[in-house]
Amino acid sequence: MTSSAYSNYPPPLSQAQQEYLVTTAKDWAIQNGLAVRPAPSMLPEGSDSNRVLATNAPITLFPSPFPRSCFEEAQALQTVYNQLYAMITCDEEWLGKVIAELIDVDDFVANLWKAHLTVKKEGYTQNLSLGLYRSDYMAHVSSNKAPSLKQVEFNTISSSFGGLSALVRQLHTELLSSPPGNPISYPPHPLLESGVPPENTSVETLAGGLAAAHKAYGYSKSEPSLPLCIIFVVQDGERNVFDQHALSSRLTGFHRIPVFRVPSSKVLDQTSVSESIPARPLTYSPPHAPSSVFEVTTVYMRAFYSPDDHTTSRDWDARVHLERSAAIKCPTILNQLVGCKKVQQVLAEPTGPDHLSKFLAGMDPTTISRLRETFAPQYDLSASGQGRELALNPETALRHVLKPQREGGGNNIYKSEIPAFLKSMPESDWKGWVLMELINPAPDAENVALRNDGEVLRGNVISELGIYGTILWDTTGKILHNDQGGWLLRTKGKEVNEGGVAAGFSSLDSVLLF
Ligand code: ADP
Ligand code: MG
Ligand code: MG
Repeated sequence: MTSSAYSNYPPPLSQAQQEYLVTTAKDWAIQNGLAVRPAPSMLPEGSDSNRVLATNAPITLFPSPFPRSCFEEAQALQTVYNQLYAMITCDEEWLGKVIAELIDVDDFVANLWKAHLTVKKEGYTQNLSLGLYRSDYMAHVSSNKAPSLKQVEFNTISSSFGGLSALVRQLHTELLSSPPGNPISYPPHPLLESGVPPENTSVETLAGGLAAAHKAYGYSKSEPSLPLCIIFVVQDGERNVFDQHALSSRLTGFHRIPVFRVPSSKVLDQTSVSESIPARPLTYSPPHAPSSVFEVTTVYMRAFYSPDDHTTSRDWDARVHLERSAAIKCPTILNQLVGCKKVQQVLAEPTGPDHLSKFLAGMDPTTISRLRETFAPQYDLSASGQGRELALNPETALRHVLKPQREGGGNNIYKSEIPAFLKSMPESDWKGWVLMELINPAPDAENVALRNDGEVLRGNVISELGIYGTILWDTTGKILHNDQGGWLLRTKGKEVNEGGVAAGFSSLDSVLLF
C-alpha cells in the first residue's frame, strides 16, 4: 500500500454512525475489562469514595495501518533485544561506568545504584533475574523510501498494557468481523476488508515469563517449607488495575500459581525476610488471611519505577528489603538501571567500542546490524560532542527530543523548548539528559479516539508499536528462558509530543498490517 491508500482512512462516519460505534465500543470495553479506574479529577468531589467506578480505557475506534515489514522485524528482533539487555545487566563494571556519569546529577539513579551496592556488599542470594520487557518503535518515513523500524525506547521495568492491548485487538477484530449490514460493522474501506489484526499473545507471553521464574525458583527455602506465590508490587491508587489483573488471572487460572498484590507502601508490613536462613527467603502473609504464610518466588514490580514511588526512606528500605531477599526480582535494580535512556544512547553511538558485538558475542553479525539499524541518532550533551550544538541551535533543536533518566511518560522536553530549557539549568547538569532525533511516522495517518471521559477526537495521528519479551537468566549469563510475543499499539494526536496511555496522551489501538 502506498501512503495514498491512507486517503480517506478511516472512512467518514455520520454522526449517528459514530454514536453507534462509540456506544458499542464503550459497552464492549466494560463488558470485557478493557477498562481503567477513573482519575479522581474526572469525578465530582467525594463521589466515588468507595472506588467502585471504572471507565473504558482510552481507545481508537478503528485499527491503524502499520507496515508489515516493520512489525515483523520488531518481532524478529525481540529475543535478541531481550538477550542484549540481560547481558548488559551481567556486566556491572560496564554499567557502573555509564551510571557514574549520572550519579552526581540524578538523585534517583544515584539512590538506585546505592541500593544495589548495599545489597552487593552483603551478598545477593538470588542469582536469577527476570525481565518483562517492551521495546517501543515507530515506523520512520524519510523521503520516498520504504518505512523503517526505529526504536523509541526499551523498557525494563513495569512494561504495561500487555493485558489491555490484547483486548483492543479483540474489540477491533470483532468490529471488523461483524456481518456486513450489521449496524455495528464499519463503513466500507479497502483496508478494513484486508484482514484482521495479527494474533496478540501479550498476556500469555508475560504471564509465561513470570511462571518460568516461579518454576526456576525451585522448592521453598523456608524451614518448615511453605507454599509458594508470586507478588505484584503495585502503586497506591493505581488506575490501570485491569491490565495487571489480566496477567494475574492467567497466572492463577492457567499456571495455577497464587498471586497477591502488595502496595509498595505495604511491602515492609506484609512481607518479611527470614534472617535466620542464609538464603533469605521472602515470606508474605495476606492481610485477609494472616495465619497463612507463603514464600515469594518472584517479585513483579508495577511500582518503584519512578522517584514518586520512593518519597521516604521507608520506600528505599522496602526496595532494599526486596532486593536482598531470595525472591527473583522482575527486575533487579541493576536491570532497572540498564533501562536508563543513557544506556540506549551509549549503545547507539556510531563510533567507538562495538558494545553490541561485545554483549551479543556469538550472535551472527547480520542480526546485530539489523538490531543496530533500529537505533535513531542519539547524543550526549558533552562539550566535545555534536549533541550540544544540535540541542542549542533553535533550528536543529526542532528535530529532536531531550530525555532524562525517567519512565512513565511526561518527562521529556521537545523541539523548540529544548534550548531555553537547557539554558535554564547549570551546564554541569546537562549530562543527566540525552538528545534524540525525532522519528517521523507517516504524516497522513488518521484515526478517531474515544478518550476515557467519553470525548471523541478525530484527526491526524502518530502510532507507536511495542513488542513484549521475557527473559530469565543468571548472573553468569546463562539464559533459561527467552521468549517474545504480543504487542501494543498506542496512537496519539500528531500535534502531541508526549506518548503514554496512563499519562493521558495516547489511546490503545491495534494494527492492520499492509
Ligand atoms: P518514557 O520512558 O517516559 O515512556 P519515551 O522515550 O518513551 O519515555 O518518550 C515518551 C514519548 O515521547 C514516546 O511515547 C513518544 O511519543 C515520544 N518520543 C520519544 N522519543 C521519540 C523520538 N525519538 N521520536 C519521536 N517521538 C519520541
Ligand atoms: Mg519507558
Ligand atoms: Mg515510552
